[in-house]
Amino acid sequence: MDITFWGVRGSTPCFSRDKVHFGTNTSCLGIWEDGGDRLIFDAGTGIVALGDQLEQARFPNCDAIHLFLSHFHWDHIQGLPFFKPVYRKGTRLVIYGRPGVEAVLSDQLVPPFCPIPLEAVAAELEFVVMDGPVEIGPLVVSPFDLNHPQGSNGYVVASEHRRVVYATDTEPDGGAMDRLLRDRARGAHLLAMDSNNSLEERERRKGWGHSTWRDCIAVARDAGVSRLVLNHHDAFQNDDTIRAKESMARAEFPEALCAYEGLNLTL
Ligand SMILES: [Zn+2]
Repeated sequence: MDITFWGVRGSTPCFSRDKVHFGTNTSCLGIWEDGGDRLIFDAGTGIVALGDQLEQARFPNCDAIHLFLSHFHWDHIQGLPFFKPVYRKGTRLVIYGRPGVEAVLSDQLVPPFCPIPLEAVAAELEFVVMDGPVEIGPLVVSPFDLNHPQGSNGYVVASEHRRVVYATDTEPDGGAMDRLLRDRARGAHLLAMDSNNSLEERERRKGWGHSTWRDCIAVARDAGVSRLVLNHHDAFQNDDTIRAKESMARAEFPEALCAYEGLNLTL
């Protein structure tokens, strides 16, 4: 399984020169197995560079692009109008998400907010409400609920021998949602999880739907995760802040690292 982080920020792109190492594009993760169909998780601004790469490669051995949205907040959809494959005739783009996925995107990607309405793009679009596992070649993608305002989907991506969990935008609830996340992350080879809030922000941001690096470690430990990627960094955290987060996390869980744009992992 080949995994690339294309956008690792929450809320909004917020460039400054002290953030170039980790990058400032919003959520997007690409996964593929054996060069088959492309799986993409979230369409934040990170998807723009991914689209450019796919366009240049002309998607060899790829029948379709499968885009799984966690939810519809801007930082998870705002790159979609600038995703080049959308404008290429012959592209089959399947967009999976929470209930209302087609209506929500059709209402948001529409003039005057966007020059081209979604129904007029060249690609063949298909919308799927995720209510159970989906098989794509050798991979099975299963959704589960996360604790976030208006809801958010986490996804388990499993091959015969590997299990990756993408859990962005979630806050511990001290109850059923925590148990569900641990259950889905159990034995994962990789957990990519929301580490948006600093420890100091945790109390005053209660109800915003985000976690700290320490919350991520608690899940990784309880669930026996092999490798933890701290993801969805707050837009205003600079490289030094994120490096400090990484060293604090690694002191408690050595297999933790902070996601940066371009991070590529092979499982
Ligand atoms: Zn977000």
